[in-house]
Amino acid sequence: MTKRFAFSAVLPFLLLSQACTPEPQPPAPAVAPKLILHHARVFTATGGADAEAVAVGADGKYAAVGTNAEVLALAGPDTQVVDMSATCPTPGVACKVLLPTWDDAHTHMVGFNPSDGILNDPAAFLPGDGPTLEQVQALFRQALAAQKPDGSGPLLPKGSRLVAYVGTSFLTDAAATRDALDSVCGEDYLCLARGWSGHGTVAASPTLTHCGLSDTQPDIPGGYYERDASGRITGKLHEAAEIRFLRCWIGEASDEQLAGLMKAYATTAVKYGVGRVQDMSLGMEHARAVRVTQLAQLPLRARVMCLPGSEGEACTPFDSPTVQASGTKRFADGTPFERAGCTSRPYQDAPWTSGHCNWTDAELESFFRQQLAQPAGPESQVLVHAMGDKALTQVLDAMEATGGAAAWKGRRLRVEHGTMLYSANDVARASALGVYVSQQGNHLAFVDPVDGVPSYAKRFEGDIFVQMDPIRSLATAGLHLNFGTDGVGFPISSYLDLALTTTHPMRPGEALPMREALVAYTRGSAESAFDEDKRGSIQVGLDADFQVPTVDVLQEGLPFTAVASAMAHATFIAGKPVWDDGSLTPEGGWRQ
Ligand SMILES: [Zn+2]
Repeated sequence: MTKRFAFSAVLPFLLLSQACTPEPQPPAPAVAPKLILHHARVFTATGGADAEAVAVGADGKYAAVGTNAEVLALAGPDTQVVDMSATCPTPGVACKVLLPTWDDAHTHMVGFNPSDGILNDPAAFLPGDGPTLEQVQALFRQALAAQKPDGSGPLLPKGSRLVAYVGTSFLTDAAATRDALDSVCGEDYLCLARGWSGHGTVAASPTLTHCGLSDTQPDIPGGYYERDASGRITGKLHEAAEIRFLRCWIGEASDEQLAGLMKAYATTAVKYGVGRVQDMSLGMEHARAVRVTQLAQLPLRARVMCLPGSEGEACTPFDSPTVQASGTKRFADGTPFERAGCTSRPYQDAPWTSGHCNWTDAELESFFRQQLAQPAGPESQVLVHAMGDKALTQVLDAMEATGGAAAWKGRRLRVEHGTMLYSANDVARASALGVYVSQQGNHLAFVDPVDGVPSYAKRFEGDIFVQMDPIRSLATAGLHLNFGTDGVGFPISSYLDLALTTTHPMRPGEALPMREALVAYTRGSAESAFDEDKRGSIQVGLDADFQVPTVDVLQEGLPFTAVASAMAHATFIAGKPVWDDGSLTPEGGWRQ
């Protein structure tokens, strides 16, 4: 009660300050909060000054954000009050930072089948050229030749699934086809070569048959089957065709297995401070992805985005406090790695190709019209993977052809990656059309591990390379930024991403200042999902999803490695700890 009294004593001051600040303070909660954390540096991601303390109500939302005195005054007899400076060099002087949890705007929690017999580790070569066709054939040959220890026959039973990860060498080799895999795998095994970037897969003939793909499989917009002169598919699958194939390849796993993969992903992600994933798990049709995400009972929130594997597939929305489903993702092109990013100029290291645009203009406009026919909002949101400049121009042209800024107002069309969104004309058009850009910090560090040359410097002439992966200039031009890791099957540290977006090793001038990067990775990502009024910043009434990093990222001049290797001491969703390394745990533990 004495604390209540103290609060009313400061009320006149609060009322006075309300008179001169444009934003009125929300009224004090009638019920005492369940948790108060004080003597911290609270980065609110609202653009306002840092706060010192937060209070969380029983509803899991922020009940107060303010100075230590303001927030502590709200404590009731049942409030757990935690001094965040207790473990600081000088107790009473804040040394711990509180940030909104990361909202990973672009990730793929499920990326493989747990029964895959994986023959090599892509981390050993990415983003380099990777194994040649001969080396991949040798991997399969070796695996199939392995004998049981007692010599009673081949180690691998017939029907085994064998996966080799590959890169540019394999994917751009015209000879790397189903026939090349068949020549070593024969008829009794399911062999598959998968591009490390998630774009480009080559399936052996038994694998294609197993997944119901015929020699004359018709294309679906947003992807394609490579074909030989006779029209027979070569086994090389791109984007929508690949998505459709993975529905079989990965989707053969049970719901429980897939939920287990999601759970494993999320259990690690919360240690990096992730509070929400905007997920595009592979291998499931939309309804199943929503079901499995619920089944997984993840420690974090998830937005399930629809990746249609056929035309007209239902992308039914879903909404609950922890799992939402909305938005439709399609692919305008591939990536520059396999030289399938659709570019206006030929690739420098393969001048016979300018990549591949997956859509005709008419197909893309038809998809856009279909989405525009629905009310604006997260459900009808369009997310387009577009990396090459020509693919990006095509997306902007299609937006203009389907009604331009007036039609797209409030629809928050998201460009995923936007790697080559640099022409002054397209940047201005994208800004006028209200485009949102999802950028991935770890995409800024693609350097060939063999020769140390940046991958894009190989693909493109210098005048193009120096313009790639803009960040700061897009923000300056008024585009809405959001960040995500693009992890496939395994989480990538958002702190690594943060270190990269705030330094941009390829283009330091395009690095984002720390505070802007923090906003993009929290409120920006929430906004890119129409959720800024629910979460993403530390404000009264919003979900109390926050983290305490192991490093004070607000400190000036932190070395790259300090940020890149940071983790979360603790991560809270709706005011409850979902990860806690023990260093901040109050005596008696967190009260749930
Ligand atoms: Zn992705």
